Amino acid sequence: MTKKIAVLPGDGIGPEIVAEAVKVLECLNAEMNLGLVFENGLIGGAAYDVHGTPFPQQTLDLAKEADAVLLGAVGGPKWESLDISVRPEKGLLGIRSELQLFSNLRPAILYPQLADASTLKPEVVAGLDIMIVRELTGGIYFGQPRGIRMLENGERQGFNTLVYSESEIRRIAHSAFRIAQKRNRRLCSVDKANVLECTELWREVVTEVGKDYPDVALSHMYVDNAAMQLVRAPKQFDVLVTTNMFGDILSDAASMLTGSIGMLPSASLDANGKGMYEPIHGSAPDIAGKGIANPLATILSAGMMLRYTFNQAEAADRIEKAVNAALDAKVRTADIYSEGMTKVSTAQMGDAVVSALRAGA
Ligand code: NAD
Repeated sequence: MTKKIAVLPGDGIGPEIVAEAVKVLECLNAEMNLGLVFENGLIGGAAYDVHGTPFPQQTLDLAKEADAVLLGAVGGPKWESLDISVRPEKGLLGIRSELQLFSNLRPAILYPQLADASTLKPEVVAGLDIMIVRELTGGIYFGQPRGIRMLENGERQGFNTLVYSESEIRRIAHSAFRIAQKRNRRLCSVDKANVLECTELWREVVTEVGKDYPDVALSHMYVDNAAMQLVRAPKQFDVLVTTNMFGDILSDAASMLTGSIGMLPSASLDANGKGMYEPIHGSAPDIAGKGIANPLATILSAGMMLRYTFNQAEAADRIEKAVNAALDAKVRTADIYSEGMTKVSTAQMGDAVVSALRAGA
C-alpha cells in the first residue's frame, strides 16, 4: 500500500533542508520497500507569491489526502510588511488547525558528539533524549472569554481563560501514553493541580487514561518543579505531557538544553496518528540560498514520521543511527562546526546520512 507524503518546503532554507530529508527517505524507500510517494505543494510566502494566499486550497486538499506532511519552514523579510491575514505564518496556523493537530511532540536529544554545544555541563546533558508532548489546540491560548476590559474604577484589566474539557485531556493523554509505549515507557504529566482547578481535572483524567496503559509508569509533577528538574537533571525524564502554555515554555527550555537549533525535529499529530513533521527552527533568511543550513533537524523529522505515522520503527531507528554515524564521521554544517571537524554544505550533510544508510546504518 502506498503512503503519500505531502512535501511543503516553504520559504528561506526550507527547500534546501527538505530536499535532503526527501533524499534520505527515498534511499530508505528503495532499500526497504516502504511504499512512500511524494507530492510537492506550496505554503507560506512561496504560496503567497503564486496564489496571493499563504495557504491555498490546493495545499489544503493535498495535506488532507496525504498520510503525512513534511514541512520546511515559512516566513522571511520579503513578506513581513504584508497584512497579518496573508503573512506566511498564517499558512502554518491554518494547516495545524485544518488537520486538527492537537498533539505536539518536541524531542530534546543531545548527541554525545555535540555535548559541548550545550550551555549545561556535558555530564548533565550528554546522551539526553526526552520527549515533550504539548497540547496544541486548547488551553489558555484559545480559552474564552479573553480580552482587556475597563473596570468601574477606570483601571484596565487583562484576562484570559484556562479551560480544558475532559475529552481534550483524554485525547492528548492517549497520544502521550502511546508515544511512551514506543520509547522507555515512562510518562510524567506536568500540571499545577495544587493551584489551578483546570489542571486538577487534567491530573484526574490523565490518571484515569493511564489505567489503559499498565505497561507505562505514570508520574505527576508540578510545572515549577518540572522547570527546575529540566535544568537540574533532565535525563530523569522520558516523556512529559502537559498543557499548551506549560508545554510552550518547557519545550523551548528543553530544546535549548541541547544548544543546537539545527538538530531538533518536531511532530504534530491528530487523533489517528496522521501528522505534520517539521524542524523546530524557522526559515533562517540570513543563510537562505547559501547551501550551508543544517538539514539534520528535518531529516530527523522525517525519522519521526516513519516512527509515529507509519509505524516503521526499524526505518526510523536507521535514520537516527545514520545521523549518529555522520556525526561520528566528524562532518559538521557551520552551525555545529568546531575545530578538528570537516565543514560541509547542506547537500553534503544529506549525502553523509545517505552514505551511512547505504553502509548499513
Ligand atoms: P530562525 O530559526 O529562522 O533562525 C534563528 C537563527 O538560527 C538564525 O541565525 C539562523 O541562521 C539559525 N538557524 C536556524 N535554522 C538553522 C539551520 N537549520 N541551520 C543552521 N542555522 C540555522 O528564527 P528567526 O530568525 O527568528 O526567524 C526567521 C523567519 O522564520 C521569520 O520569518 C519567522 O517568522 C520564521 N519562523 C518560522 C517558523 C516555522 O516555519 N515553523 C518557526 C520560527 C520562525
